[in-house]
Amino acid sequence: MNSSAFYKITYGLYIVTSWDGENFNGHISNTVFQITADPAWFAVGSHKKNLTTEYIQKSKVFTISVLQQDVDMKFLGPWGFQSGRDIDKFAAVDYRVGKTGAPIILDNTIAFIENEVESVIDTGTHILFIGKVVDAGILDEHQAPLTYAFYRNVIKGLSPENAPTYTGDKLAQEGGGSDKVALKEAQKMKKYRCSVCGYVYDPEAGDPPTGIPPGTAFEDIPDDWSCPVCGVLKKDFEVMD
Ligand code: FE
Repeated sequence: MNSSAFYKITYGLYIVTSWDGENFNGHISNTVFQITADPAWFAVGSHKKNLTTEYIQKSKVFTISVLQQDVDMKFLGPWGFQSGRDIDKFAAVDYRVGKTGAPIILDNTIAFIENEVESVIDTGTHILFIGKVVDAGILDEHQAPLTYAFYRNVIKGLSPENAPTYTGDKLAQEGGGSDKVALKEAQKMKKYRCSVCGYVYDPEAGDPPTGIPPGTAFEDIPDDWSCPVCGVLKKDFEVMD
């Protein structure tokens, strides 16, 4: 079997949200598709370990917010690479509560589709929720929707571990060289890439929002600094050629 064939399937990227009657959560999904038109039914696939999956199982509703193409990794990071068990993903995002009670994301989105679950299919690692549309709307008529291909090829994003498209994106850990001191010198002002989300640390730009001024070599960043997109520590970054 050549699983490279899977890469020939096209996808969009969406934020799928739900609630448990009290709290909101959501995550990025590429497994979103329309099944029927009249009445309109949609399906979403969701990893069993995701908090949003638990919420959909409880409330029996889910909302699809369609991401716009013009979006950056810093917005996508918390939705794709961090868990609602660790952070409040809604603290710094504009949203409103829809008909189902689940939130509709208003930042970086162009449309929403609200659904009530009609059918649930267990697919092993994931659950496929099939829902009937109860409301839908356009938020921005002019922006293009974000596709998975654009995310991979232009934004240079990786797949989160719980995504169906995840194939072990983590790059091989760097091996130790014989002349470590010389190697370190040579790497001084090199760019480093987060092995989890694909965020690139550029020493020229630094990371001013977290107090790292432009011109700071990666090696000089404090060890407790974390990826501004997905939150992993320095040790999960790899030097780029
Ligand atoms: Fe990261």
